[in-house]
Amino acid sequence: MKIKHIRVFKKSLPIPGGKITIGQATLSELDSTIVQLISDCGAIGWGETCPIGPTYAPSHTLGARAAIMEMGPGLIDAPISPVLLHRKMNSLLNGHSYAKAAFDIAAHDLIGKRVGMRVADLLGGATTERVPFYFFIGVGDVDEVVRSVKEAQAGGYVRIQTKIGGRPVDQDIEVIRKVGEALKKGMRWAVDGNRSLTVRDAIFLSQQCRGLPFVLEQPCNTLDEIAALRGRVQHPVYIDESGVDLATVVQAASSGLCDGFGMKVTRIGGLRPMSTFRDICEARSLRIPAMIAGEAI
Ligand code: MG
Repeated sequence: MKIKHIRVFKKSLPIPGGKITIGQATLSELDSTIVQLISDCGAIGWGETCPIGPTYAPSHTLGARAAIMEMGPGLIDAPISPVLLHRKMNSLLNGHSYAKAAFDIAAHDLIGKRVGMRVADLLGGATTERVPFYFFIGVGDVDEVVRSVKEAQAGGYVRIQTKIGGRPVDQDIEVIRKVGEALKKGMRWAVDGNRSLTVRDAIFLSQQCRGLPFVLEQPCNTLDEIAALRGRVQHPVYIDESGVDLATVVQAASSGLCDGFGMKVTRIGGLRPMSTFRDICEARSLRIPAMIAGEAI
C-alpha cells in the first residue's frame, strides 16, 4: 500500500477546570493536529500529535504543522509500512519526531483496519485490556492539591502524579508531605518536576521527604543534572522529557542513569519507535509507567 492523499486538521482541546500549571507554564487549552492518510486502495488511517504547550518539550503546535507540511508532498506514493515510512520521513526532514508521529500513528491505524487487527496486536499483543489512568494534579497550594488527591482516591484512581517546581522548594516540600499524609495505602505516586528544579533543590527535597513512597520524575532539565542526582536522592528517579529519542534511551539505560522512564508516543516519533523503546526497557528491567498507566505529562 502507498499513500495517495493526506489531509490535516486542527482541534482545540480545552483543559478541564479551565487551566493547569505545569512547571513554569500555565495552559488553558491544547491545540492538536490530526492527520488523515488515505491509501491507494482507499483505506483510511488517523494519527494525531498534540504538543503540551510551547514550553513542556522542544515542540510546539505550529512547528508540528509546518513539519507536516514540509514532509507531506514527499510522502505521496510512500509505502505505508512503518519502518520504510520512517526512513522516507527522515530523508525529507531531520528531527521533529513529534510531527512524524502523526504519520506513524495514522499508518498503524490504517494497516490495522486493512488487515483486521488491533494496533496493540500488530505491535506484539496487549498485556492488559484495562489501563489505569494517572490522575495528575498541577502545581498548587497545599489545600488545593490535597483536595484533588482526595477526590482522585474517592474517584477510584490508583495512581496520582503531583506537579512541583517553579517556586521556592520549601513550598513543594510542604505540599508533598501533606499529600503523603492524605494518600491511601497502596496508591502509586509520582512527583514530577517537569525539568524545573535545580540539582541542589532536588536533593534537598528528596532528603526532606525521606520515607514517602514516590518516584521523582524528571526533576531537572538535563541528563547531566540527573546524573548528578544519582546516589544523592532517597527516591527512584524517572526520566521523562529528556528521553527524546532511542539513542538517548539506550544511553540512559546502559549507564544506569535512571530507574524508569515516562515516555510519550509522539515525542519518540510514534508507535514504531515506541515499541522499540518498550523492548529496550524490558531488556533492562526498567519501568515504563506511561505505557501501563496511560499517558502522563
Ligand atoms: Mg512527566
